[in-house]
Amino acid sequence: MKKIAFYGKGGIGKSTTASNVSAALSLIGKRVCQIGCDPKNDSTRLLLGHICKETVLDQIRTKDASEIKKEDIIHTGFNGITCVEAGGPEPGVGCAGRGIIVALQLLDRLHALPESDLILYDVLGDVVCGGFAMPIREGYAEEIYVVSSGELMSLYAANNIAKGIRRFASRGKVRLAGIIGNSRKVPGEKELLLEFAEMLHTKLVAFVPRDKIVNLAENNRQTVLQYAPDSAQADVYRKLAETILTNENLTIPTPVSFDDLEKLVSRYGTEN
Ligand code: ADP
Ligand code: MG
Repeated sequence: MKKIAFYGKGGIGKSTTASNVSAALSLIGKRVCQIGCDPKNDSTRLLLGHICKETVLDQIRTKDASEIKKEDIIHTGFNGITCVEAGGPEPGVGCAGRGIIVALQLLDRLHALPESDLILYDVLGDVVCGGFAMPIREGYAEEIYVVSSGELMSLYAANNIAKGIRRFASRGKVRLAGIIGNSRKVPGEKELLLEFAEMLHTKLVAFVPRDKIVNLAENNRQTVLQYAPDSAQADVYRKLAETILTNENLTIPTPVSFDDLEKLVSRYGTEN
């Protein structure tokens, strides 16, 4: 079983890319679990066709831990994909990172996840604190993909995630498996991301174009694989899914300084 995670800045396209990859994998017969680890709890919306209303933290808040059953937190989405949302704290109370720890521990205790070929953790990577680092730190995810555009703040988050992976790589199996470029139409973006990946000692495994078909599909609460299976964008996600299945280029990343990130971004900004 492959245990992977998608990390990246909030709003960069992790859940969209994750859901499309999960859908593509399920369509070639793979048994997939997607676990949303973002207090926004919308990771699995496109797979379920609605926002998940029963997150793990919701259950923990409203029930005695001993009363919670697998069925309360495991949901079935598009083409049989297992969907879980860790959930988030009530605004103003509690800590989102802590929520992820509690949620993942409960999944373990209940042996809630079915037998699968691939588990995908979709994790907010703006802060790589104890909670958000849990999938990396405790061996839940071994192959980490970072979703990034060519924008400075997205690269900054990606670089921070690389620092987190490097910290825990020595004591476990966790490795950086690559950068997934998700275009924001920055000038020279693909070349910039190729260079960024090289600086981090990894590969750009995909460059996903920005395309309105993604938004049209989202308006219908569907992945592109479901909404427009014959589109070029669906092909991009299918190819990424194949790459993830066969990727053996797992590295301990070499994060860079903020100065180097700034230089990289400003060089492309002025050259193009
Ligand atoms: P995250 O999970 O990283 O917070 P989302 O996956 O929710 O981000 O994406 C944020 C927004 O960007 C969504 O409205 C989504 O439809 C849009 N989006 C993501 N990727 C693309 C793309 N390749 N082309 C067009 N829109 C995209
Ligand atoms: Mg998300």
